[in-house]
Amino acid sequence: MKKISILIPAYNEEEVLEPLYIRLGKLANDNKKYDFEFLFINDGSRDKTLEIIKDYANSDNRVSYINLSRNFGKEIAMIAGLDHVTGDATVIIDADLQDPPELIPEMIKYWEKGYDDIYAKRNSRNGETWFKKTSSKWFYQILQKTTSIPIQIDTGDFRLLDRRCVEALKQIRESQRYTKGMFSWIGYKKKEITYDRDPRAAGGTKWNYFKLFNFAIDGITSFTTAPLRISSFLGFIISLIAFVFIIIIVTKTLLFGDPVTGYPSLMAVVLFLGGIQLISLGIIGEYIGRIFNEVKQRPLYFIEEYHHSEDNKKTRR
Ligand code: UDP
Ligand code: MG
Repeated sequence: MKKISILIPAYNEEEVLEPLYIRLGKLANDNKKYDFEFLFINDGSRDKTLEIIKDYANSDNRVSYINLSRNFGKEIAMIAGLDHVTGDATVIIDADLQDPPELIPEMIKYWEKGYDDIYAKRNSRNGETWFKKTSSKWFYQILQKTTSIPIQIDTGDFRLLDRRCVEALKQIRESQRYTKGMFSWIGYKKKEITYDRDPRAAGGTKWNYFKLFNFAIDGITSFTTAPLRISSFLGFIISLIAFVFIIIIVTKTLLFGDPVTGYPSLMAVVLFLGGIQLISLGIIGEYIGRIFNEVKQRPLYFIEEYHHSEDNKKTRR
């Protein structure tokens, strides 16, 4: 029998775990042709998330869990899960029921037809603010324009991955992870299905605009060096303008003499150039920061406890 692993990163999700577990249980009962594994990644939750998961694991041998040693963020929680899933295919799903588990049978259908990566594209984003929708749209557009790989718009991490995609993702050991881009980067046969994204079932989002801004910078700096190119380009253009300007000024001075004027234009030029230089330095700094973080070669995460359902033995590390 083929096995489907459901990978669920969870951070402070005590309120939504029960409805999620019920819907996943229903999914497994309706699809008896497959074995299911529910692998919860507890990402250092500070509420009862871990206890609830442990309860499920004690009474249900489909449930496995990994308890990370602290909160590492969703991107790291996902790779921790991918490192440990045992299924022939893996579905990544949010704990907050924004991704309906009822879509999974359709994903499995396409997987059986030979697709490797079946991703769910959001038709609508109920319960999200206008600002979040627009900023996310812009971000995707910028990213798409500056990278050579196709980025899927309005697509989250909710998807079914064949074993070979999982093996590919496991080889990417970057510490500042932008998993959404990696799904595209690894390639393989992709299939898009659409759905209406629900608002969060309960609890609050773990994102704020500052985090999203950082995530956007991570996304751009991990997949493209275009900003560096843009600052070189700006430098080139500005030098060219300056060169023409110098010729004009020198000629003018030689021909007509030069009473000292031009304080406003001088200030404008100095401030403008200062701004461009600071931005360029910042861009270079972003990339150096990434190099710094990657050369340290730290392990991506530490596991406090891994409970694997099949043999029911607990491993402590
Ligand atoms: N999550 C996580 N670690 C974190 C933050 C979030 O594992 O540090 C999980 C969270 O429990 C949820 C998923 O990542 O299952 C998506 O988080 P959230 O719903 O807050 O993000 P949004 O849907 O608003 O983008
Ligand atoms: Mg959510």
